[in-house]
Amino acid sequence: MKFKLQVHLPGFFTKWFPAAVWRLPAEEKTVYLTFDDGPVPSVTPWVLDLLHQEQVKATFFAVGENVFRYPELFEQILEEGHAVGNHTYHHLQGLKTNNLEYFKDIELANRLIGSNLFRPPHGWLTRGQYLFLSQKYKIVMWDVISCDYNGNITREEVLDNVLRFVRPGSIITFHDSYKAEEHLRWALPRAIEALKADGYEFRKIEFPKVRRLFITTYLQRIKKLRINFKQLRKWA
Ligand SMILES: [Zn+2]
Repeated sequence: MKFKLQVHLPGFFTKWFPAAVWRLPAEEKTVYLTFDDGPVPSVTPWVLDLLHQEQVKATFFAVGENVFRYPELFEQILEEGHAVGNHTYHHLQGLKTNNLEYFKDIELANRLIGSNLFRPPHGWLTRGQYLFLSQKYKIVMWDVISCDYNGNITREEVLDNVLRFVRPGSIITFHDSYKAEEHLRWALPRAIEALKADGYEFRKIEFPKVRRLFITTYLQRIKKLRINFKQLRKWA
């Protein structure tokens, strides 16, 4: 038996981050495909072609650095009617990054991405980071992860991770990355086909923009953090 990653997340995760989105309301048989870590040449265009062919809309959590390097791919995602979200500029892990650096990285990414959706790289961030970012962003997690990036599992297991745990309203995570490419190219078309055969429809993730009031508060807090940070440096 091979080790499997967190395909299903334990309940305390969702309680710790109550305003994050793990799954969407499920009156209908709808699922939300999401793709993390792109856009990159060859993988992202391949995903876009497949989605176009299958008439499926999805959500791409882009890494700012990749958007900067491949703006035309990012444009293509938008032109084809998909949703985009922020996945930091340098794919930073919240737990290993101090807050100021983390928030600055996210803001830098958002100058290019311009989204009110945020997904933390590695699926984890501190509660403080979560509370702060929740004021501006809708934090979108998932309830089904394909583990397509995991070289220790087979492509069949990647597909099985999706089909076994999917339910109406599921947010399903794949990766448009080189690491996941081999598994993705095999499992994604099969997952779409099987889900369609099972009567599922696909939608992108959308939330209304957060009110201005929150953004102002958020900016004030950034300013305060900056001042604290400057003082800290003075004392150091
Ligand atoms: Zn990622």
